[in-house]
Amino acid sequence: MHDPDPLPLSALQHWAYCPRQCGLIHLEQAFDDNLHTQRGQAVHAQVDQPGVEERKGLRIERALPVWSDALGLIGKADVVEFEPDGTPYPVEYKHGSRHKAADIAACDDVQLAAQAMCLEGMTGRTVSEGALYYASSRRRRIVPVTAALREQVAQTVQAVRAMLTSASLPPPTQDVRRCKGCSLRDRCQPEALGRLRSADFGTAPFDPDA
Ligand code: SF4
Repeated sequence: MHDPDPLPLSALQHWAYCPRQCGLIHLEQAFDDNLHTQRGQAVHAQVDQPGVEERKGLRIERALPVWSDALGLIGKADVVEFEPDGTPYPVEYKHGSRHKAADIAACDDVQLAAQAMCLEGMTGRTVSEGALYYASSRRRRIVPVTAALREQVAQTVQAVRAMLTSASLPPPTQDVRRCKGCSLRDRCQPEALGRLRSADFGTAPFDPDA
C-alpha cells in the first residue's frame, strides 16, 4: 500500500478548533471568508514571501517549507529563527490578541508543536520551544513543546486521517463560542442540526481572538 498523502499542518489546528470545521475544509474543500479569516490573511501577507535575513546573531527564514515523513505532515512555517548552532525556533503568526480564551489558544499550540516536530526531523536538532506571535497585541506567547503536546499532535494526525479515510463529516461542536467565530457557520448550519439552539446565536458575535 502506498503512503497516504501528507496532511497539511493547518488541518491539525482546524481539527483542534472543531473536527467538523476540519472535515468541511479538508474533506469537502469548503472555505468561506469571514472577518477572522480576512484578518488572518492580512497578518500572513507579512510573512508569506520567502526570505532570509540575519538579525541579532540569528538566521531568520520566512515562509519556510516544512514536512515530516514520520508523521505524514507538510506545510509552511511563517518564521523560523535559527540559532548559531542550527537549532530552529518556529514562530507562527496569528491575528488578534495573545489573551485569547485558553482553550481556543490551545488550538494554535498543536499546529506550532507540529511545526517543531517537522523541523526536528529536517534538522536533527531538538526543538523544545516555539512562539505564537499575535499581531494585534504585537506580543509573543512562548509555547514549550512538551511530551503531552507531542502526543496531542500524534493523536490529532491519527484522528484527521481516520476522518479522511471514512469520508464522514464529524458532528457540530457543542461550543457556541467556536461557532460564533467560525467562517463556515452558514454552510455548516449547526443550529439546523440541533446541536445548538438558534437563541445561542442571538448575542453579539463572539470574537475568538478577544
Ligand atoms: S459552525 Fe461550529 S460546528 Fe460548524 S464547523 Fe464551525 S465551529 Fe464547527
